[in-house]
Amino acid sequence: MNSRIERIRQLLGELEAETTAPRGDLGFSALELPEIIGEIVDDLQPILTAYDAAFYWFLFRHSIAKDGNPQIRVSRSTLRRAVVKSSYTDAAENMISFGKVQDTLRALEEIGAIQKLGEPNRQGTLYRVLIPDEIEACRKFRAERMAEETELFPLSDDGWHKKRMQVFERDGYKCRKCEKQLTRFTATVDYVKAPEDGSDDSAENLITTCAECNTRGRTNQ
Ligand SMILES: [Zn+2]
Repeated sequence: MNSRIERIRQLLGELEAETTAPRGDLGFSALELPEIIGEIVDDLQPILTAYDAAFYWFLFRHSIAKDGNPQIRVSRSTLRRAVVKSSYTDAAENMISFGKVQDTLRALEEIGAIQKLGEPNRQGTLYRVLIPDEIEACRKFRAERMAEETELFPLSDDGWHKKRMQVFERDGYKCRKCEKQLTRFTATVDYVKAPEDGSDDSAENLITTCAECNTRGRTNQ
């Protein structure tokens, strides 16, 4: 009797999850994974604690990274032993406490990194794992990070990337100093007149160089 009720409860949970989040609309493709992983490291991890981050990566690995489906049903006892060791050395078997699991899940929910989709059953609770683009806190952090980077490294924005490619294309991916044939990955950009002399970073003031010529140029100045 109890197991049938449990089964019905589980089916209801699954049904609820399917209505809340139809899989087709939310699935991610393998091609998107590298991009998503980059965003997690850049925009989510810096706003998480070490435990939060470890839990998020575990949930991500068993949902989106497994088959593209952002939903995962997981139990507290699994999270207790399968994610990380407790940072308290005297903890029994180095497992983290149920309280810590609870707190970490709550923290991830509060930040918007995971979303609870139903009530727990014997297999655990159904969650949806969100990616940085869907998490408001990440979008905010990204905007702050990018504003800061533009201030610190004014040339490292998209415009600079485009300009580099233009300079490489114009010079045929050849070092303008030693004529060595380079590729997109080995080519560097150097100034004709150093910016300290008051010159600009317009394409006319930029040339393609190999790494050696670029370094040599700098030591001479
Ligand atoms: Zn060179």
